[in-house]
Amino acid sequence: MSSLKFIALSGTTGVTENFYVYEYENDMIIVDCGVGFPEADMLGVDLVIPDFGYIKQNASKLRGILITHGHEDHIGALPFLLKEVKAPIYSTKLVAGFIEDKFADYEMPSPKVNVFDPDRDVLTLGVFKVSSFRVSHSVPDGVGYVIDTPEGKLFHVADYKFDWTPVDGKPFDVKRMVSLASEGVLGLASDSLGSTTAGYTESEKELEQKIEEIFRKGKNKIFFTTISSNISRMQQALNACYRLGRKVAFIGRSIEKKVEIARELGYIHYPPDLVIAPKAARRLPGNKIMYLISGSYGQPGSALYRVALSEHDYLSVEQGDLVVFSSDPAPPGSKTNVDMVVDKLIELNADVHYYDMQEDLHVSGHGSQKDIEMLMALLKPKHAIPIGGTIRHMRAYSQLAQGMGIDPKNVFEMLPGQVLEFLNKNARINGKVPIKNVLVDGLGIGDVGQVVLRDRKILAKDGVAIIMLQFDRLEGKLISDPEIISRGFVYEEKEKGFLKRSGLDLRRMIERKKGVNARIVRDATVDFLERYFFDKTGRRPMILPVVVEI
Ligand SMILES: [Zn+2]
Repeated sequence: MSSLKFIALSGTTGVTENFYVYEYENDMIIVDCGVGFPEADMLGVDLVIPDFGYIKQNASKLRGILITHGHEDHIGALPFLLKEVKAPIYSTKLVAGFIEDKFADYEMPSPKVNVFDPDRDVLTLGVFKVSSFRVSHSVPDGVGYVIDTPEGKLFHVADYKFDWTPVDGKPFDVKRMVSLASEGVLGLASDSLGSTTAGYTESEKELEQKIEEIFRKGKNKIFFTTISSNISRMQQALNACYRLGRKVAFIGRSIEKKVEIARELGYIHYPPDLVIAPKAARRLPGNKIMYLISGSYGQPGSALYRVALSEHDYLSVEQGDLVVFSSDPAPPGSKTNVDMVVDKLIELNADVHYYDMQEDLHVSGHGSQKDIEMLMALLKPKHAIPIGGTIRHMRAYSQLAQGMGIDPKNVFEMLPGQVLEFLNKNARINGKVPIKNVLVDGLGIGDVGQVVLRDRKILAKDGVAIIMLQFDRLEGKLISDPEIISRGFVYEEKEKGFLKRSGLDLRRMIERKKGVNARIVRDATVDFLERYFFDKTGRRPMILPVVVEI
């Protein structure tokens, strides 16, 4: 008997790494293909990606990949997927720009993304007829999908909130969504991240005034940071600067590139003379300039990280400078980074505004409890599936669903890999696809520059160098010369002198830094030795620093 399958291959218990499959007989489509971020204990791992095993096994069924919006945890794993299978990608215009840029990061030719108009277009992908409607979120041009199947209509609404006054002037298209739902809704898979937050999520509009008020207090240079995909937030910072007579300079490759894409496609607007080159910015008095700078999660090597550690080539933070963080509290794994950067900036006597200060310098892009209830009230789904949250968000979402009259046995808190089967308008969990976490150790994701994927192949080719460092926490310095052991990199018997010299040069570099801690030593070691070894040997061994704190 033919049935419809919905499989959450990942993205239900871990917020990020969104990756869902809809399957009916010989047709299959994917919605979103995002990366996850590593946990703090996954040393040396930069990214987690979904397990594509099931997709590879069923590659001949795959009719298309639909993307909801341009966030990393929804598009970031596309280059990895497209290495394994071929299928057309569908998205809105801005999202397509971001996807093409993503492939460029990996130095892969970008597939042509099929751009659709969410106000009109219907896509036919095998047995599935897919329509879409605009939703509001923290990045423009996001959509929800209606997937019309032989069993009935399934709504897939990833990250959204009901924002009637979004920065780009395009609110959630409730009218279209409701008309698409008119013949009844078999199931709804929707964002659960805000299910533990009371009320409605605030509009992005509330923020611009707050940003301007804080900017107004700035007597010297201003540094403003947000994630590079947050086009609306950057627009608001630009607007505030325009009114306050400050010029703006973009610092950091990811921000420059995202702004360029958004501007070209008409998603960000500013008078040409508002933005100046960093070189010209340095000639202006401090109170006439704002730097829109990348590194809002304190990513090691990002522009803001280097400024905070007084290592940037030409920018520095001085007493009286204002630094504003306007982004979600850091994703898992990066909190220690951003805390360190904030502390370093405060040490330099900057006036730092960050997420702990409760100034509401950020509004969430995710709907809260009332938004979730409203979505359910508008769609009246028979079945509901929380996505994009953790276990606790799924449970809170289930309670909201029951409060909205959905039968508790029709709400499915799905674990990664579980298969939900729809047959004759009823649904039940039927089996599980085996999945595992796939870890990617790459350098330079996002802000740092070109991506160097260092998988096993490279490990086999260039080997590994392990660096033992003894660090005195109180004195803030190394106790002895770093000891370097290598395997498969250089012939140790013969090259002992080389490794010893490398260790000495590394120590000299670390001793030139002020106020270091174990973390900085570790990051700096990787940074330094990567370049050093490549310069001297033309090889890129994997570098594993082991810092022993004493
Ligand atoms: Zn998102």
